[in-house]
Amino acid sequence: MKIWIMTDLEGVAGVFSFEEHTTPKGRYYELARKLLTQEVNAAIEGALESGAEEILVVDGHGYGGINIEDLNEKANLLSGRPLLLPWALDRGFDAAFIVGQHAMAGVESAHLSHTESHTSIQNVWINGIKVGEIAIVAAVAGYFNVPLVLVTGDKAACLEAKSLIPQIETVAVKEGISHGAAISVTPTKARKMIKEGAKNALKKVNEIEPYKVEVPIELKVEFTEESKSSAEILSRKSYVKKVDTRTIKIEDEDLLEALKKWWL
Ligand SMILES: [Zn+2]
Repeated sequence: MKIWIMTDLEGVAGVFSFEEHTTPKGRYYELARKLLTQEVNAAIEGALESGAEEILVVDGHGYGGINIEDLNEKANLLSGRPLLLPWALDRGFDAAFIVGQHAMAGVESAHLSHTESHTSIQNVWINGIKVGEIAIVAAVAGYFNVPLVLVTGDKAACLEAKSLIPQIETVAVKEGISHGAAISVTPTKARKMIKEGAKNALKKVNEIEPYKVEVPIELKVEFTEESKSSAEILSRKSYVKKVDTRTIKIEDEDLLEALKKWWL
């Protein structure tokens, strides 16, 4: 069994602040990377005990969130930028996990929620439905027939994952009290919960369908007011339509092509 693990930093137990934990200038950035790496190790241990033979970890947080020195030696790491699609998902994986995930932009009681960038993106829709990073990762995995079976993160991220994939296993390691504050379990507790979650997820791997997005794809991206120049620049491309001063639309027969047209 081959397992693919996407990782992010904002949904990790003990990570509380964009400024202090998730950027290299923050005083707790090294701590946050350590906390994420240990949560990923817990998921890896759960996967190994469930029969996984090959594990690829993807360092998905913008600035990087994995400390490879501390990563379980049974896994390999995909990192560096740009992290081009399809993030190695075309290499025949049996199941996907997301560890350390936050909810999409604009959700109530969601800790550190955003979609791709908390400074530049307001909202993203695929086929008229508002989506966050979970749906995007689930859809790219689903494109390669890989089911997303585990999401760990804050409670709002877990609810978001369940709304897309009802049978998915989720592990909520904290609960947002506001966008900037949360009640978190301790890292030690989080690791125990995540290891159990990984085992539970792999028990039902054959019952969870890959998440598929219907074609043709309509991808709409609304930038924030301060980043609306991104909409202006993108809308000069022939394949991008301008919806309003800060919103663009891309239509394509293929999900990956649509996403590449946004990110390139
Ligand atoms: Zn993220």
